[in-house]
Amino acid sequence: MSDVLRLPQFSIGTGDRFAHQAKAQLQACVNAAKAGVEVVPVWNKSNREHTIIGSEPSQTRAAADAAVKALGWDKPYFLDADHINLKTMGRFVAPCDFFTIDVADDIGKPAAAADVDAFVARHPELVGTVNIPGIAEPFRTDEAFVRGVANKFLGAVQEAGKIYRAILEAKGEGKFVPEISMDETDLPQTPVELLIILAAIADEKVPIQTIAPKFTGRFNKGVEYVGDVAQFSREFEEDLAAIAFAVKNYGLPENLKLSVHSGSDKFSIYAAIHNAVTKTGAGVHLKTAGTTWLEEVIGLAEAGGSGLAIAKEVYAEAFSHADELMAPYATVIDIKKEKLPSVEEVNGWTSEQFVGALRHVQSNPLYNANFRQLIHVGFKVAAKMGPRYLEALEANEEIVAKNVTENLWERHIRPVFLGA
Ligand SMILES: [Zn+2]
Repeated sequence: MSDVLRLPQFSIGTGDRFAHQAKAQLQACVNAAKAGVEVVPVWNKSNREHTIIGSEPSQTRAAADAAVKALGWDKPYFLDADHINLKTMGRFVAPCDFFTIDVADDIGKPAAAADVDAFVARHPELVGTVNIPGIAEPFRTDEAFVRGVANKFLGAVQEAGKIYRAILEAKGEGKFVPEISMDETDLPQTPVELLIILAAIADEKVPIQTIAPKFTGRFNKGVEYVGDVAQFSREFEEDLAAIAFAVKNYGLPENLKLSVHSGSDKFSIYAAIHNAVTKTGAGVHLKTAGTTWLEEVIGLAEAGGSGLAIAKEVYAEAFSHADELMAPYATVIDIKKEKLPSVEEVNGWTSEQFVGALRHVQSNPLYNANFRQLIHVGFKVAAKMGPRYLEALEANEEIVAKNVTENLWERHIRPVFLGA
């Protein structure tokens, strides 16, 4: 089994909406390697983003390969078919080697009663007092509880199995890293639910290397975590223990780890994540939320002149189409429209004011999370500008790249993976 494609312990998911920043992103991983920690890049771009921008997964592959070549990166790297399902997977099959199998929409769709019965009968170890090494208080369940969790999740896991087998058919055994994601749903999964879900995934014979549950608290796109950090920390550690238990008892891949979706900018939980993985030796996949696009706008604004003018134009357009741009992301953003600056005001801003409002430095009094989130969902505006936007990126490559690298390295990789 040595030829199975294997995701290393630490990885970071980065999005590159306009396929211009792969090198700057990879530079952050190079910095980590120089500091002695291997963090491998996973380039992700969802079907939704490809559709909004009008791009193809093969372009993401070409950009990633070119960056790897340019920087002489000799460690693994991956291309993520991000949040795919049976309907959308087609164009991702050839260029991708990491598949985020999204079954959030299938949660709650009941499985056949006989399948639920069979699951409960097959897993007496999940009923009663479930002692898991690493968790002080054992989980206490009864058959009705396990049946309830199976009713809620078994159908979704069976759907994941179908998608996995379709990818397997197309790509072959061991040729890709499978992840199952359940994060884009309403309620978080508790650690004991995660354990039951993992048992079902093992039964379905999907050799997942990462799983993305929905964690407690809010993970809005591109902004700080909103929730109880102590509770997150406890649940994250229990999730790690549940995973270790499932690997040992159900034969899931030994490198199985948690994937933290929309994990960028959640500065308040990074110490908890770092401490938990350091203590246990577990791995983690930190998936950022397309925030490289924001660093592009920051770089353009910082450049001043025509760069700043384009940044202001992006805001003006985003502001006037706010409802339309926000709609597809309604559940993962939290914009207070009354806190958005007017277009007139922004048009009068200096580079410093624009950058200060957008860059995620909470100690800066100019920072405005509402402004940041609106621009985050506003990438369609830049896509509509077409070559004019791309030419601005190229003309200001250095200052944009500096922002892209610094954001990933200083604000994400260092605190999460190096604990510094
Ligand atoms: Zn996700």
